[in-house]
Order: sequence, then C-alpha cells, then structure tokens
Amino acid sequence: MSDCIFCKIANGAFNTEFVYENDKVAVFKDINPVAPVHLLVVPKIHVESLRELDDKELMGELLSAVNISCKKLNITDYRTVINTGKGAGQEVFHLHIHVISGRPLNWPPG
Ligand code: AMP
Ligand code: ZN
Repeated sequence: MSDCIFCKIANGAFNTEFVYENDKVAVFKDINPVAPVHLLVVPKIHVESLRELDDKELMGELLSAVNISCKKLNITDYRTVINTGKGAGQEVFHLHIHVISGRPLNWPPG
C-alpha cells in the first residue's frame, strides 16, 4: 500500500468505521467537519484527483456511494464538492467527494 492516507483509510488500515463500503469505494467521516454531516467518498484504488480518473464505472460507483450513504443517514439536502488541484483547495491528493449537510448551505458559496 502506498503512503497515501486515504488509501490506508479506505483499505481498512485503521479500522475506520465506514458509513458505506463495497469492493471499489469507501465512505467515512471527515476528521475536521465543516458541517454536522461531512462525509468523504473515496475510491479504494489510488487516484490523485478527478483529473486522473478515466474509469466511468468507478465514477458511477462514487456517485452511487454518495446516494446510498445519504439515504442510509436519511439526508435529503446535501452538497457534494470535489476540489481538484491545489488552486481549487485540494489538500489530500487522493480523489474524494465531500458530502456536506446538516446546516443551511448558501449558494453561491463564498
Ligand atoms: P481537500 O481540501 O478537498 O483535499 O479535503 C481534504 C479533507 O480531508 C479535509 O476536509 C480534511 O479535514 C480531511 N482529512 C484529512 N485527513 C483526514 C483523515 N485522516 N481522516 C478523515 N479526514 C481527513
Ligand atoms: Zn491514495
């Protein structure tokens, strides 16, 4: 396994409690939540960012995991965010979808 923290988490290295997982993706809580609900949906294989993802099946798996996780938690209103590249706020270079909910979410964002 690489040195990547999300590779480790997604593949069970820390026994993280998953909101949802299957053989391709894992969903877990963000360590520094910006809202009462803040999940991260990640592929189990290492993909640096959305730029590097060319597997349409995996793209579907990731969005499906968002959908399943929110249904599981009875969340109907939520925001999904994918920061791609340093200039867009990406800090962890393993693709992840943020799922944010549980407080009013303004649009457009600041
Ligand atoms: P981004 O800025 O889009 O790359 O988001 C990275 C997110 O990963 C931030 O919201 C962090 O709080 C979160 N994060 C970093 N390390 C961990 C960790 N060990 N477990 C859970 N979330 C983490
Ligand atoms: Zn990784």
